[in-house]
Parts: sequence; C-alpha cells; structure tokens
Amino acid sequence: MDSDCIFCQIVAGDIPANVVAETDDAIAFLDANPLAPGHTLVIPKEHYHRLNDVPDDVAAEVLGLVHEVVPAVEAAVDAPATTVAFNNGEEAGQEVPHVHGHIVPRSGDDGQRP
Ligand code: ADP
Repeated sequence: MDSDCIFCQIVAGDIPANVVAETDDAIAFLDANPLAPGHTLVIPKEHYHRLNDVPDDVAAEVLGLVHEVVPAVEAAVDAPATTVAFNNGEEAGQEVPHVHGHIVPRSGDDGQRP
C-alpha cells in the first residue's frame, strides 16, 4: 500500500467509496466525478502505477472484474453501450498513479470519454 495514494486509501477503507463488486485482488467502485451516471472504476487492490507493472494473474483478475461489471453497469443505468478505458501513464491522461480502468456508460456520440 502507498499511504499517499487515494485509491489505496479506498482499498484500506480509510476513504469511503461506493463499492460495486470485488474479488481477492480487484475492486470496482463508482467514480466520484462521473462522466455519466454509473461511471465505475476497476482497480487492482495492490498499488501498481501502470498496467505494465501489474503481474499477469492480477491483470487477469482486473479484466475479469471489468467483464463482470460492464453488463451490470449497463443494466443499472439502462445504457446500450460503455466505453472501457485505461489511461496508462501521465502523458495519456492518467492523473491517479494507481492502475484503474474506467467503465463509462454511453448512449451515442455524447463525447463523454475518459
Ligand atoms: P482523469 O481525472 O483525467 O480521468 P484518471 O484517468 O487518472 O484521470 O482518472 C482518475 C479518476 O479517479 C477520475 O475519473 C476521478 O473522478 C476519479 N476519482 C478521484 N478520486 C476519487 C475518489 N475518491 N473516489 C472515486 N473516484 C475518484
């Protein structure tokens, strides 16, 4: 755990979050500043800065949780589609330095991409 990391603090329960689902090594929770209702983040529980740093088994679990959460989010907000994106590195727009995938409900060309 990186005690300065906001997502590590969520995993530890030190900062509140609306948890959608979790496994041993991954957790999904609602984005605090959603681009659309239902905007969800999926992260590994361990602190890794970039996808490149994540071990294979943890990466598989994170993607498995994305796979589980996408249809649940679409059903919850009645969205026909979702954008799923990882901003991987600061130059790509990653602001929180703990790997996270965005699941953003979409309904056409609304421009709401992470
Ligand atoms: P960007 O802010 O440009 O989308 P990131 O890809 O690093 O950059 O995304 C960080 C995401 O984390 C943002 O969507 C932001 O709203 C979300 N976020 C920041 N703090 C919290 C928090 N405490 N709880 C839930 N989501 C958070």
